Amino acid sequence: MPMVAGKVALVTGAGAGIGRATALKFAAEGAKVVVSDVNVEGGEETVAMIGKIGGEAIFVRADVSSSKEVEHLIIKTVEAYGRLDCACNNAGVEGKIAPLADQPDDNFDLIMGVNAKGTFLCLKAEIAQMLKNGGGVIVNLASVAGLIGFPGLSPYVASKHAVNGLTKNAALEYAKQGIRVNSICPGGIDTRMLDSLAEQSTGGAQSTHEMMDPLHPIGRIGTPEEVAELIVWLCSPRASFVTGANIPVDGGYVAQ
Ligand code: ADP
Repeated sequence: MPMVAGKVALVTGAGAGIGRATALKFAAEGAKVVVSDVNVEGGEETVAMIGKIGGEAIFVRADVSSSKEVEHLIIKTVEAYGRLDCACNNAGVEGKIAPLADQPDDNFDLIMGVNAKGTFLCLKAEIAQMLKNGGGVIVNLASVAGLIGFPGLSPYVASKHAVNGLTKNAALEYAKQGIRVNSICPGGIDTRMLDSLAEQSTGGAQSTHEMMDPLHPIGRIGTPEEVAELIVWLCSPRASFVTGANIPVDGGYVAQ
C-alpha cells in the first residue's frame, strides 16, 4: 500500500537536492505533488521527473521569504488539487562561513529570512489551509545545526535552531486540531549545499566526500533519498503518534 495514496503534498525548494528527492518520493508513494522553488528550471525538471515515473505534479514558483508569494502558492495548490494534506518546508540557504564577529549583517538577514522567516510564513499559510480541510502533516527541514553549534556558521545555526523551535510550538498549538508538525535534522547530505560548505571550509583542498565522510560515524555522508524516506514516512498515517519531534537523520553525527 503506498504511504500517502491520494494525498496532496507541497514541497518547497523542490528544484534540487533533498526537496527534489522528497517530491519524487511523495509521487512514488501516491501523492499529487506541488513542486515549488525560486529556481524555475530546477522545479520544472522535478515535475518532468515525476511525470516519467507516472506521477502527477505541478510547478509553482515562490520565494518563501515573501508572505505574498507563499499565500499565492497555497492558493495555486488549492486551485489545482482542492486541498493540502502534507507539506515539506525544505527551501533553504547556507550563506557564508565566517566567525561571528566577521559575519556580514546581510548574510544574517538572508539566512534568517529564508530559513527561519520562510518556515514561519509557510507554517502560517499551510496551517490556515489545513484547518479548513480538517487536518494535515508538516515536516520542516532543520539540520544537525539546529541541535548543536558549528563554528563559522552562526547565522545558519541560529536559523535552524529557530526551525526546531517553530516546529515544537506549531505542534503544540495544533495537536488537537489534527495537524502534526515535526522537523528533521540531516547531517551531511550529498547536495549542492554540502559542496558549498566543504568548498568554503577547505578552499577546494579537499572534495566534499574527503572532508565530510569521516565526520559521520557511519563513515559516509547521506543521500537525498535517505532523507526523503523519513520525510514521507512522517507524513504518512504510519507516523500517527509522532509530533513536535526534531529527528536526526545523520549517520550518528549528533550521537558523538
Ligand atoms: P539541500 O537539498 O541540501 O537543502 P540545495 O541548495 O540543493 O540544498 O536545495 C535548496 C533549494 O532551495 C534549492 O533548489 C533552492 O533554489 C531553493 N531555495 C533557496 N532559497 C529559496 C527561497 N527563498 N524560496 C524558495 N526556494 C528557495
